[in-house]
Amino acid sequence: MTDTTSSDRQCISGDRCKGYDHLAKHPAWTDPYCALCEACLAAARRDVRTLLYDWLDLAQMQAPSLSQAINPQPGAHRDPPMPLRGEPDALQREIHHVLTTWETEVRNAAGLADLPPLAQHGAAVQRAVTVLEPRLRLLAMLPPTAVYPTGCEDPATDVAGWEAVAHLSRLRARARSMLGWTFRSRWVPGDCWACEGRDADDLDGPLYRAEPRYEEDDCEVWCDRCGEHRPAADYDEYVRTLRWPGTPDPEPDPEPDPQPAPETPAEATA
Ligand SMILES: [Zn+2]
Ligand SMILES: [Zn+2]
Repeated sequence: MTDTTSSDRQCISGDRCKGYDHLAKHPAWTDPYCALCEACLAAARRDVRTLLYDWLDLAQMQAPSLSQAINPQPGAHRDPPMPLRGEPDALQREIHHVLTTWETEVRNAAGLADLPPLAQHGAAVQRAVTVLEPRLRLLAMLPPTAVYPTGCEDPATDVAGWEAVAHLSRLRARARSMLGWTFRSRWVPGDCWACEGRDADDLDGPLYRAEPRYEEDDCEVWCDRCGEHRPAADYDEYVRTLRWPGTPDPEPDPEPDPQPAPETPAEATA
């Protein structure tokens, strides 16, 4: 697939392109090196970030505990094995497999250290999301590579980077639809930023996600103890850093402040 004649091409997402031009009726333009346009990449970035807490939600359907899911503590006591529901378990395994497969490819392409796999799946998913989310454009540009697309039982198949990005977005959609049908799944892991509600106490919650009101709704996160709520983007950051944006940082943060998103607009004073 060497096309050296055109400098621009249309996003390969076709009708589903997030930047689709509804007036001119064509997908968004993209540069010749990346099959996906910027709008599609931005949506996929959010999907990949969200896969981490989808994975945690799926784990919670089976054995609830954020601390055990995220922290691989060898000395910590383990719950006795519980009967697993087939489907969430299979989807969790596929999310883990796909994320870690492409983490490895992206590490190679980006010249990052080749780290050994993490035995604890929650930690492995978290690490893969951390590597992939800021490098989705690189992933989308990877040439077809022989991988086991959904699990080790698959025959090795050539998959292009942009197809991997699409697969990650589909996994997110499947997780959302699977999680949608239990009330339990509305609880999300984590501690409240505003009150004493803690994930580790004996009560359900405290945090839950609002029901989606439309397909692309990000679903803000609420505390059922104090009734406060925050945007989904804040919760995304909390899941990544285990600290709510805007709350005091216990340790100096070595990286430059990456928060371009403004808070909600100030109330008009007129
Ligand atoms: Zn697109
Ligand atoms: Zn609260």
